[in-house]
Amino acid sequence: MSVNMKRVLAFHCHPDDVEFQVSGTLALLEQAGWEIHIATMAGGEVGSVVLGGEAIRAVRLKEAAAAADLLGGHYHYAGGHDLCIQYDSWHLRQAVRIMREVDPQIVFAPPPTDYLVDHEETSRLVRTAAFIASVPNYDCGEPSIATAGIPHLYYCHAAGLSDIYGRPLPMQMAVDISAVIDIKREMLACHASQRSWLQYVNGMDDYLQQMEVDAQVQGQAVGVVFAESFMQHLGRGHPTDNLLHAILGDRCIPLSLEHGGNVHA
Ligand SMILES: [Zn+2]
Repeated sequence: MSVNMKRVLAFHCHPDDVEFQVSGTLALLEQAGWEIHIATMAGGEVGSVVLGGEAIRAVRLKEAAAAADLLGGHYHYAGGHDLCIQYDSWHLRQAVRIMREVDPQIVFAPPPTDYLVDHEETSRLVRTAAFIASVPNYDCGEPSIATAGIPHLYYCHAAGLSDIYGRPLPMQMAVDISAVIDIKREMLACHASQRSWLQYVNGMDDYLQQMEVDAQVQGQAVGVVFAESFMQHLGRGHPTDNLLHAILGDRCIPLSLEHGGNVHA
């Protein structure tokens, strides 16, 4: 970690979630001089019908590291397991450990509502970790230095671009990622083990194509080709200025709630 650089941490649940939801925006931040960090709560243990849990985890952690490497970034594994992510003190300590290792100014988390409870629990864990990592007396179980402050926190879009009732989420902004869609595709393609798995579990014939369709749907809401959309956490304690807009300028396009309604597959 470089002390002088601005650091962004995209902290989702499984290896490949960051690449689906936020890697285009990470590519733009990298071009703007930010240091990129990607973390996952879980190790991808159930993502195979051929390999056992430990074997597929080893494959997927390598895939995640390779994707981060495309942005000159760093990958962190929090130590949790697929379908076992819970909001408890063990998982929270792991999330805070990573938050303190990175000390980011911007954090991306899964949305509070998503198709897997693993994602929703990760959202709560990352939200709390972002808030408490700066509290010196919180003991994460390892020697660590409290973060410099509470970061800007943004929630990614949900898988399938809707909540669990099929309704649109109240997205607040869309980032135009048209210029970096090739990098996003390349990052997601690092997760080659997931092609057959997603075909098996979600009937997703080509996960790269599905990613592009989702990015197109989000782009259409703001009149660009490809976009990723976000909600900012504006609860007490967190900075409420839109740092993403300050960095990306016109490429970060505000969405009205009614536009948010359009960001829906
Ligand atoms: Zn996931």
